[in-house]
Amino acid sequence: MKKKKLTIQIVTAFPGLIKEYTTDSMFKRAVSAGLLEFKFIDLRKFGEGVHKKIDERPFGGGPGMVLQFDPIWQALKSVKTKAKTKNEKVILFSLRGRKLTGKIAEDFSKLKKITLVCGRYEGVDERVAENLVDEEISIGDYVLSGGELPALVLSEAVARFLPGFLGKQESLESIRGSYPAYSRPEKIINYKKGKVLKVPEVLLSGDHKKIAEWRLKNSSL
Ligand code: SAH
Repeated sequence: MKKKKLTIQIVTAFPGLIKEYTTDSMFKRAVSAGLLEFKFIDLRKFGEGVHKKIDERPFGGGPGMVLQFDPIWQALKSVKTKAKTKNEKVILFSLRGRKLTGKIAEDFSKLKKITLVCGRYEGVDERVAENLVDEEISIGDYVLSGGELPALVLSEAVARFLPGFLGKQESLESIRGSYPAYSRPEKIINYKKGKVLKVPEVLLSGDHKKIAEWRLKNSSL
């Protein structure tokens, strides 16, 4: 059987900020196992003039700079990526986008290619959202300096749904939600005088049915 591989392309003016995270640990393993591939597209390369300018002042005034349409368009063209392509999605990170959830991540994990456009500065020329992407995604109601951390968050949330990315135990967690975990020692006695930090009895009982029930009851879903 041919192995299914997901390609994640990240369009960013700051590839150096996040590249390293994609080349270590779980991602490193997934990439060498052929489940996943990362490509970085440096927006700067598509900037104008000697200074490779990619931002301009906003029409109508106001603070900050706006990422321009053209560099993003050229960047997408350079890798022959277009919105509304079967088995692919082009996503722009935006505070006005759909809030990322596990369900969305699972749906994205079934695609062949995901292209993530990272905003910066005061935001991105709205014509990018209107014409070049399939949808806008937000990772939560708080403002970050750019789409680079959202790109890592989305990549990891999606990758965890790729068959073979996780070990069996961890995949149980991703389906059931997160439950509280305890490990050795059974009793922590040297933390505060007169206080012993214990482990819930049921987890030591060896009764797998009861343990499963307890975890479900205490899980995040
Ligand atoms: N002044 C803008 C904020 C721009 S933040 C506004 O109020 O809308 C700069 C870029 O960072 C955004 O264009 C977006 O791409 C990214 N970004 C910041 N916070 C984000 C979040 N919570 N989710 C997704 N992207 C975010």
